[in-house]
Amino acid sequence: MEVMLLESVAGPGNSPFGTSPGEVWESLQEEREEVNRELLSEGRLSQCDAGRLLESEASEEYTRAIRWRNRSQLQARLKDITDAQDRLIEGRYGRCAECAQEIESKRLKAEPAAALCIGCERSVAEERALEKLFGTGSVH
Ligand SMILES: [Zn+2]
Repeated sequence: MEVMLLESVAGPGNSPFGTSPGEVWESLQEEREEVNRELLSEGRLSQCDAGRLLESEASEEYTRAIRWRNRSQLQARLKDITDAQDRLIEGRYGRCAECAQEIESKRLKAEPAAALCIGCERSVAEERALEKLFGTGSVH
C-alpha cells in the first residue's frame, strides 16, 4: 500500500524545496522505522533495567520516570513523522500548520517532519515552557 502511495506522491516530480516528495517520503519512512525500532528495543531494555535496578527502589522510580519520558518522546516523534507523511500525501507538506507560510527548505532538510515554521515553533516552545512553569489550568 505504501509503495502505491509513494508512486502517486512522487508522480508530479517538481517541488518547491529541492528534494522530490518521494525523497522526503523515503527519509520520513526511514526515520519512522528507526523510531519504531527504538520503541521496541526500549521496551526490552527497560525490562532488564527494571530487573537490575530492583535493589534500589528510589532509582527504580527514577528510571521509570525517564523511561516514560523517552517513550512519550518517541511516540510523539512517531506521530510527527506520520503527520508529515499525511501532509505529503495530501499535498500540504512544507507549509506551517499554524500560520500556513512555507517552511524554510533548510529547516525541512534538517527536520523533514517539521510541522511548523521557525517562528511558530518558537512560540509553541515558549508556550510549553510557560505551561511547565505554571502548570496547565491548575489555577481553577
Ligand atoms: Zn508558522
